[in-house]
Amino acid sequence: MKWDEYAQWGKHIADWGQTYHSTLGDRPVRAQTAPGDIAAQLPSTPPEVGEDMAAILKDFDDIIMPGMTHWQHPRFFAYFPANATPPSMLAEQLVNTVAAQCMLWQTSPAATEVEGLMVDWLRQALGLADGMTGVIQDSASSATLSAMLTMRERATGFTGNREGLSDKGHLRVYCSTEVHSSIDRACWVAGIGQNNLVKIPTQGPRFAMDPAALDAAIKADIAAGHAPAGVIAITGGTGVGACDDLGAVLAVAQAHDLYTHLDAAWAGSAMICPEFHAEFWQGVDGYDSIVFNPHKWLGAQFDCSVQFLRDVTPQLNTLKIEPEYLKTTGDAVTNYSEWTIPLGRRFRALKIWFLLRSYGLEDLRGRIRNHVVWAEEVCEAIRAMNGFEISSEPILSLFTFRAPGDDAAQQRLVDAINDDGRIYLTQGSHKGRKVIRFQVGQFDTTQDDVKMAATVIAEIWEAMT
Ligand SMILES: *Cc1c(COP(=O)(O)O)cnc(C)c1O
Repeated sequence: MKWDEYAQWGKHIADWGQTYHSTLGDRPVRAQTAPGDIAAQLPSTPPEVGEDMAAILKDFDDIIMPGMTHWQHPRFFAYFPANATPPSMLAEQLVNTVAAQCMLWQTSPAATEVEGLMVDWLRQALGLADGMTGVIQDSASSATLSAMLTMRERATGFTGNREGLSDKGHLRVYCSTEVHSSIDRACWVAGIGQNNLVKIPTQGPRFAMDPAALDAAIKADIAAGHAPAGVIAITGGTGVGACDDLGAVLAVAQAHDLYTHLDAAWAGSAMICPEFHAEFWQGVDGYDSIVFNPHKWLGAQFDCSVQFLRDVTPQLNTLKIEPEYLKTTGDAVTNYSEWTIPLGRRFRALKIWFLLRSYGLEDLRGRIRNHVVWAEEVCEAIRAMNGFEISSEPILSLFTFRAPGDDAAQQRLVDAINDDGRIYLTQGSHKGRKVIRFQVGQFDTTQDDVKMAATVIAEIWEAMT
């Protein structure tokens, strides 16, 4: 393709994007296709001869788009949001166009320096202590794996990478029963093993890890000759938004000299609002590692996950590797690929820079505050519906509910709602029962969109019964 054609199609796609976003509310939120529908419309062999971009884009509209679920739809209430704000999309277009591989300072000095600054802007925005540094990763799963590997290496005197784990005994990591599956997977991949991930029961209205049970579990493991390595706390669990008492968990972890990681992948964004700190953020500054995803609630186009570090040294001692061809000019610069597992890196900081400059923190806070209030409003509307119950009260903008009937009835309702297409919800599990999750967080959602959700749920339930 010639560059003048590139410019022509680039403009076409920008216009397409504007139309798409301005008519998004008219589309069904979840794709209404059956498995295999899309693939069946595509040739099974690659073309030998190049085709026109016009033909490719026509097939994109006709074949691909009907098979997309619309995460930027204003009535997306499923999972957690993946907000892609227009300024962050523009930044991504620039990043895609310059297409630099930003693994070392010298392979793109601006990318490294903007990344350092953006991590620090976000540190300030979230009210974290001076001196915390950090790195931008692709996903919270990767940041958590980095922290898990650091726990492992620290607990083995930094010998695991060299010697393997066969004579290291049982390394143990502790977390609550409410953590995200990325914690389990990090434990598998780090060679620690699922059986050595100790899940502590939760208590209270925020489903917080029981610190006394944590302490008892660590002591029992020490008595059994195991090797406690670290504790993973959570602010805003995926199921019902569980939040640990960060200070209480930290005190236990520090008493046993354990490495600490906090998973705030979703709820971290809400901490740009200082009024949430008293309830959700006390003690956060003591954590060795903290992850939050600006690509969820904050508005940075996927993917963009920030890992803050109190001291980068243990993670560097775990992950840094420097073959000859990667050696650069010494200590004056940061080479972020030494902080993470992948070598290659995209310039993800640019979209944070565009996002924060374009909106300003005050606008972003306003959106999050609205989402929290509107979630409470829709929760009350559902509580008032005949026979419906609230299974878990709102934590920030997430709550769960049940319709009358058994687990199968909950799934039938979720499926009927998503086949209808006006709103999108997903199911979860809480206290051994199936529940329906509801979160408010899409950037373009309005109070009317959220109100409409309660009406749609009532209407569909009525039609089913
Ligand atoms: C979304 C989420 C994750 C996983 O995030 P990825 O960036 O997709 O890896 C982990 N923990 C919590 C609490 C989450 O909400």
